[in-house]
Amino acid sequence: MNLNIEELESYILKVGEKKFKATQVFEWLYQKKEWNVDNFTNLKKDLREKIKNDFNLDFIKIKKKETGSLVKKYLFELIDGNFVEAVLMEHDYGKSVCVSSEVGCNMGCKFCESGRLKKVRGLETYEMVEQILLIEEDIHDKINSVVVMGIGEPFDNYDNVINFVKIINHAKGLAIGSRHITISTCGLVPKIDEFADFPLQVNLAISLHAPNDEIRNKIMPINKVYNISKLMTSLKNYIAKTNRRVTIEYVMLNMVNDSKDNAIELAHLLRGMNVYVNLIPYNETNNLEFKKSERIKEFKDTLTKEGINVTVRKEFGDSISAACGQLRSKEV
Ligand code: SAH
Repeated sequence: MNLNIEELESYILKVGEKKFKATQVFEWLYQKKEWNVDNFTNLKKDLREKIKNDFNLDFIKIKKKETGSLVKKYLFELIDGNFVEAVLMEHDYGKSVCVSSEVGCNMGCKFCESGRLKKVRGLETYEMVEQILLIEEDIHDKINSVVVMGIGEPFDNYDNVINFVKIINHAKGLAIGSRHITISTCGLVPKIDEFADFPLQVNLAISLHAPNDEIRNKIMPINKVYNISKLMTSLKNYIAKTNRRVTIEYVMLNMVNDSKDNAIELAHLLRGMNVYVNLIPYNETNNLEFKKSERIKEFKDTLTKEGINVTVRKEFGDSISAACGQLRSKEV
């Protein structure tokens, strides 16, 4: 089901029932994980029939699961035969899932495996929610945090991603705290502007990956549409409106964006902004020519010296191709 609680409440009122029935439906689906409407025993039979008639209650399936150290990769089959992947990571502070938002991706970042298949379509809201539901069911445990950093550009599927966030955040949905949800975008400026008005306190991460347009144009085609200056203006506006700290993702590509000068230029670009930089060690793939930087520590130290908050992303899942930028919309 794709509806968030307000949408479900208006449906329930429209069919002449009491509003709280919507909460009961949410509880069945997301808390009791009961997916057969006939078993919604606190709903009258005619309401159950209406729900069955009016909604698409399709389900995605786990097609394959691979296990690495502290990480599991799930391949899901969608009802139209497409595939997406999600990754479960076990941190000391809890379990998190990296979900996919599209089948394929149109952003064309040169270093990313996921984008080698062009976008087929955005995921429906339920297809994103069910990635988490199915993983919770599989591990018999609750997910504490969610990052929308799998296959796809979430802001290229904005409405469905926002609805997904509303459902997983809702107390009668999956009850995942908004501060435990992060959306990562390659920088679709109009959507960042729109997201600044979204009322939930969800984290925003920006895939910046370069300190200037010259480098960014070479590795991220989106920069030709929204260059760094436009992106920074939009981010400053977002931070001013929301008062939230933004994550700047920076993938460390050997000899491309990892020099000391690049670090200093990045520090100048970000100076005074409420951001922190998350350096991502590049995960090499067989199909792309980029190499992992050998200068991550130096880069980090330069940023620190320049007064920029910086962390290095923990490496997860490389052994089973479940790491950042390695997920694919393919069965093999
Ligand atoms: N489209 C969104 C969501 C993807 S998030 C975005 O661009 O932000 C995945 C993160 O991993 C992005 O920052 C992406 O640029 C980065 N990435 C892609 N390929 C990678 C690779 N091979 N190694 C490490 N990080 C990679």
